[in-house]
Amino acid sequence: MFPLHPKSKQHIYLDHAAATPVDPKIRQCMRPYFSDYFANPSSLYSVGVKNREVIDKMRSEVAEILFSQPDTILFTSGGTESNNLAIFGLLFGLIKKDAKAKRHIITSKIEHDSVLGPIRELEQTYGVEVTYLDVDNKGFVTAEQVRKALKKETVLVSIMYANNELGTVEPLSDIGREILKWRKEKNTVFPYFHSDACQAANYLELSVEKLHVDLMTLNGAKIYGPKGTGVLFKRRSVTLSPLFFGGQQEKALRAGTENIPGIVGFTKALELAQKKKDELNQEIKQVRDYFWTKIKSEIVKVELNGPDVADLHRLPSNLNVSFSGVDAEALIIYLDSYGIFCSSGSACSTDSNEPSHVLKACGFADERSLSSIRFSLGKHTTRKDIDYVMKYLPIVVEEIRKVSTFK
Ligand SMILES: *Cc1c(COP(=O)(O)O)cnc(C)c1O
Repeated sequence: MFPLHPKSKQHIYLDHAAATPVDPKIRQCMRPYFSDYFANPSSLYSVGVKNREVIDKMRSEVAEILFSQPDTILFTSGGTESNNLAIFGLLFGLIKKDAKAKRHIITSKIEHDSVLGPIRELEQTYGVEVTYLDVDNKGFVTAEQVRKALKKETVLVSIMYANNELGTVEPLSDIGREILKWRKEKNTVFPYFHSDACQAANYLELSVEKLHVDLMTLNGAKIYGPKGTGVLFKRRSVTLSPLFFGGQQEKALRAGTENIPGIVGFTKALELAQKKKDELNQEIKQVRDYFWTKIKSEIVKVELNGPDVADLHRLPSNLNVSFSGVDAEALIIYLDSYGIFCSSGSACSTDSNEPSHVLKACGFADERSLSSIRFSLGKHTTRKDIDYVMKYLPIVVEEIRKVSTFK
């Protein structure tokens, strides 16, 4: 039924929104810290103190990129931990002060599970009230929606910078300005503004002053750095309660021996990503647009999910396409046999057969969601890679449609 699989071991990796390969330059920077400079940075002897200095230096470098101060940067084990620390850390601190007060959180329906998970837990177990903002059919939230949802009990607004499934870039600075205005009018420090920026750092500006965020999550795994690394930016004015208790690391907000190779790797990856972002934006957008043009011209009944490819409020690396009548899971598995790797949305939800909560929030029927594939391109993806994919994608789609009972 299908053409013979190519004998060549060609691999086209199009799932960079799930994980990126560690850049060899980054790996090189990390290497000495595994076995040579391994001393515990909390120790008193010189080689330990040296490692403490390395961490301080990395903290300053990250702070500079975010236009912030070193004491606002907390190193964590990744996006999930940073999101949990921001959300639980804030609410647990407030609950400890006054367990009975009413509290309200505003978020969107398309957040990553590592934001929605903690927020749901606070809603269900701690009685926190939550507003889940709708998005339009391209995945956008507006500052107006946030403003309308604000109330005196609102302590936190959490809106992601760029969506991992659709690449939709949310209007953070507009939202941030509304929040600042509200605080000023009401003469209150609340709500704080948190953003999950894990998908943003390769392409977008990270100045916390321009974005008006009080808390911001970044991770290494999506920016050609090591997995299990990340940062939580926390403005000085924000008080968090720790989730890990023990030592005094990270200002006692994150007990545990620091992951020095990870901290070095994360910092260097962030530096490289931000230095190259304009160049990469240009290059990757051209390849992505080439891919979409080919799909449109060679395959019938396809629809783009998320913002238009010409819209700059879409990550240049993201292409989320619905192939009408095609079971996305079948397509992923067939493409895999040709050495083409892509996904049907969030890597975290592949175990469930439920349609993606993001596509659902855009108002798509289940059939459309379940026939949607996310291709996320990376800095090494070329037109030649796309040509290879297009050699098989139309045939595979057609074959699946022929035999499919899937509507
Ligand atoms: C990948 C990702 C996360 C989770 O990050 P980990 O480092 O894997 O914990 C959180 N939010 C978004 C938007 C992501 O893309």
